[in-house]
Amino acid sequence: MSITLYSLGAAEEVTGSKHVLEVDGRMILIDCGAFQGRRAEADRKNRQFDVPADKLDAVILTHAHYDHCGLLPLLGLNGYKGNIYATPATRDLANIIMMDSARIQAHDAAFLEKQAVKHGTDFNWKPLFDEADVVSTANQFVTVSYNRPTCLMPNVMLEFFDAGHILGSAMAVLTITEKDGTITKIAYTGDLGRKGKAIIRDPAILPPVDYIVLESTYGNRKHESTDDALKMLADVAQKALKMNGKIVIPAFAIERTQELVYYFHTLVDKKLIPEIPIYVDSPMAVNATSIFQIHPECYDTDTYNAFIKHHKNPFGFNSLKFVTSVDESKALNKLDGPFIIISADGMCEAGRITHHLANTIEDPQNQILLVGFMAEHTLGRRLQNRELEVKILGEWHKVRADIVQINAFSAHADYEEATDWLKEMDTTSLKKIFMVHGEPDVQLVFKEYLESNGYPDIQIVKYGETYEI
Ligand SMILES: [Zn+2]
Repeated sequence: MSITLYSLGAAEEVTGSKHVLEVDGRMILIDCGAFQGRRAEADRKNRQFDVPADKLDAVILTHAHYDHCGLLPLLGLNGYKGNIYATPATRDLANIIMMDSARIQAHDAAFLEKQAVKHGTDFNWKPLFDEADVVSTANQFVTVSYNRPTCLMPNVMLEFFDAGHILGSAMAVLTITEKDGTITKIAYTGDLGRKGKAIIRDPAILPPVDYIVLESTYGNRKHESTDDALKMLADVAQKALKMNGKIVIPAFAIERTQELVYYFHTLVDKKLIPEIPIYVDSPMAVNATSIFQIHPECYDTDTYNAFIKHHKNPFGFNSLKFVTSVDESKALNKLDGPFIIISADGMCEAGRITHHLANTIEDPQNQILLVGFMAEHTLGRRLQNRELEVKILGEWHKVRADIVQINAFSAHADYEEATDWLKEMDTTSLKKIFMVHGEPDVQLVFKEYLESNGYPDIQIVKYGETYEI
């Protein structure tokens, strides 16, 4: 039997995840993510869609982040008619993400056309897919819950395990049985999460496998502990209460926003801070939060016990308000502190967060709380770098508000956490680790660290190379 694997995205880089496993010529695609980064480069890479969609036999989606699910609609457009396997929560969140992408692309196309007409230039930029394509993709999903082994095709079983990364995130273990009874097990981590994250369960300890395709985003980093997050958030809230200041938190609409709401709720519940008004200003966050509410099967014991058994809602409480209309959003500018605004996007490049920043950044009683990864060349990165003056919506602003950073929220395991996760597994049958989803210099550091911890056979997956199993 021939088993091979190769990568069509996220080999020696961190976005655009697309991995292929071939079993006797039958092709399984794991994730179909979009490239993110500088606009022109990302657009070019996403348009060079080199997945042989019409030849695929099955598609697996590990979780709903855009860099893992963003190009699923291109599969259908290129001839794929089969199933897309994902957990129920992943399907629901992925539908929101893909629909949002279709709308942004339609909006961009209209804007670029207007600009072209104005300047008398040619216009030929087209969205990669539209809303109807997303609906077709939604129809291809077959949901598989955690720990429900499912037949993917003759001789190949799929089982999802908790990845501890975002709601619904899963590691996929594929079991291939040959005619003579030989069994090969391959685990794809997708994005590997961390212990102790709010709301969701810890990464599962996998059963013994022969191969692991392991992500390596933070292979050279050590995060703050998730236990620190509560204390740091309480400090920020206390300061705002004392100064009557505003706290502005740029956060992605999915996961980070719900996590923050959950943490503030916990702080109030434990009487560590008094109630303080919180405004979640993002229409997408409102939709995403409703998905979180309908998937208690993904909760960890704390969330489950505290909120399901007591019929409470972990994502809503008295002092929390969801803001959807633009007028309500603008009205926040006139309100006096103390209060908290959580708004998207997470890197401060677009969306309502830019207005809130422009409105609060020059006042020293306010705090800007950075809780996520900030890519190079973004406003978020400039704030992180403590630049004294920044341009927001075309105007320069002096940075007088306090910039506070909490790194404890990361959704990816750092090198120690990933290694500890491996150590908890029975790895006596492990033959090789294939490393994906990481920058080259980071991967070298991580590879060395794993080797020094007793995992000698590690292959950094490269583009254009096929690996025999
Ligand atoms: Zn992810």
